[in-house]
Amino acid sequence: MAWNISFNILSAILNVFSFALIMPILDLLFKTSDVAYTYIPWEWNIGSWDAWKEAPELIKNNFFWYVGDAIGKYGEQYTLLMVGAALVLVTLLKVAAMYMAFYTMIPIRTGVVRDIRNKINRKIMELPLSFFSEERKGDIIARVSGDVNEIETSIMSSLDMLFKNPILICIYLMSMLMISWELTVFVLVLLPLAGYVMGQVGKKLKKKSLLGQTQLGMLMSQIEETLGGLRVIKAFVAEKQIQQRFEQTNDLFRRTTNRIYRRQQLAHPMSELLGTLTIVIILWYGGTLILSNHSAISASAFIYYLVIFYSIINPSKDLSKSVYAIRKGLASVERIDKILDAENTIVSPSVPLLRQPLKVEQAIEYNNVWFRYRDKWTLKGVSLRVERGKTVALVGQSGSGKSTLVDLLPRFYDVERGAITIDGTDVRRIELTALRNLMGNVNQEAILFNDTFFNNIAFGAEQATLPAVQEAARIANAHDFIMATVNGYDTSIGDRGSKLSGGQRQRISIARAILKNPPVLILDEATSALDTESERLVQEALERLMCNRTTIVIAHRLSTVYNADEICVMHEGEIVERGKHNDLIALNGYYKRLCDMQRFD
Ligand code: ADP
Repeated sequence: MAWNISFNILSAILNVFSFALIMPILDLLFKTSDVAYTYIPWEWNIGSWDAWKEAPELIKNNFFWYVGDAIGKYGEQYTLLMVGAALVLVTLLKVAAMYMAFYTMIPIRTGVVRDIRNKINRKIMELPLSFFSEERKGDIIARVSGDVNEIETSIMSSLDMLFKNPILICIYLMSMLMISWELTVFVLVLLPLAGYVMGQVGKKLKKKSLLGQTQLGMLMSQIEETLGGLRVIKAFVAEKQIQQRFEQTNDLFRRTTNRIYRRQQLAHPMSELLGTLTIVIILWYGGTLILSNHSAISASAFIYYLVIFYSIINPSKDLSKSVYAIRKGLASVERIDKILDAENTIVSPSVPLLRQPLKVEQAIEYNNVWFRYRDKWTLKGVSLRVERGKTVALVGQSGSGKSTLVDLLPRFYDVERGAITIDGTDVRRIELTALRNLMGNVNQEAILFNDTFFNNIAFGAEQATLPAVQEAARIANAHDFIMATVNGYDTSIGDRGSKLSGGQRQRISIARAILKNPPVLILDEATSALDTESERLVQEALERLMCNRTTIVIAHRLSTVYNADEICVMHEGEIVERGKHNDLIALNGYYKRLCDMQRFD
């Protein structure tokens, strides 16, 4: 930041100097100056204020003397060439300083954006699952990409403008004051007037472009809806209807855009006209000053003055633009803050009762558990006891609350009433990482990452060795097909494991659970049918995994149900029947009907 400011000051000063070279050029061309300059020796007492005050005069005097001297020695044409060359040189230094000012700003700019992205990603992983059912995922992605970019373009790019422009304006103003204070006072009265008129044009534009943005948003959400509902649109032959609705919105957007563009295009001619008007007024006033001979300002100094005045216009415009851009960016900051400031309700207790390594000595227990996502109760007073080393199978229709029930154990959500305990300790009083390290998860949809086999199996285990991973894969019946791939364990599995079959994906996720070796297992069996060979391999792998572990399984296979120590039948958020397979069949109730339908969902 300090470098940036220094380079900006340097470039502004060089700019003033480079334009100062115009004066002798003009004097040379028009032969207006008949003053004979005498050389004053360069003696500068840095501590003395007078020396500073007289410095510009001194520099100017000696510079003109050099020029006069050169004309005498080498002739006018040659001197003109030399002054021109000096102008190029000073300009070269100036643009170099300008570039360095930008250059030093770049790490700040990209660094801030990187930090924001990191922060959002960290926060997304911290926040409870419940946050994401309320806030749409697409919206969050839009915030991470769109709003962060918006911050980069508007705020960060304005940031260097914000540093640069005030510096430029100050230095230019100072030089203007030094050349002629009368003119400068006059200009200072004139400029705000012109600025006000331009501001009025811009104001309307802002309102309109905001409207345009909402309409574009509407358009985009319609496309999103169409994409998601294509199947239904085609099936119900509703293409025309959807197209009409889209065209209407699109037309509305076009009309707004028309108005925006018309006004936008107005801005340029307006500012040109106003600029010329301002210059003419200054020209008139300055001309009067020169012609009436009251002031010390010479014609060439006046032209120099105008050039500097012209240079002050752009930074002033940019400054007002960056104020607007920053305001726009702040809207994005606000949207991002909604994620960053979101409260995480599922946190470790401040004084946890139990820490790692956690074990189940006796049982996991659900005591009269009530839970709801929104208004309707999803679980209504569920009680369940899973003894150490035993397997409990949950069966029931889809939507009966089985997944919700198992999600409560690792505290993906918290119960609303009742409690879940491990050996009598409420899960909310256990350290969160210890609690989650206690259990392994194998999901219906094997969740794999776009990485190698090794990393997918060693997921979450930081110090896994290749032999350990291979051993886990062997137990999970995954070793053979992994070795059959080109790079073995270093083969990348593609996006979400798209290169693998359903059974292979499951075996990878089983291997992952085996490697973690948790005392408690939460299993959500796959519903999708596998071919017989795959089914056998997966079944075998699962049986090895479940061996000697406390297991809660959402069961879809008859074999799993047979082997379970207890079967709980869920219906609309309650456990309506429980017992062994044969007893439940004999009961001739919900379970019997589920079996008759040949599915456990
Ligand atoms: P199952 O696993 O037995 O199919 P779930 O536990 O997935 O049942 O769902 C139970 C009920 O809770 C369903 O009515 C479902 O619509 C609702 N539900 C599940 N997840 C959410 C969620 N994230 N937000 C709101 N409602 C949900």
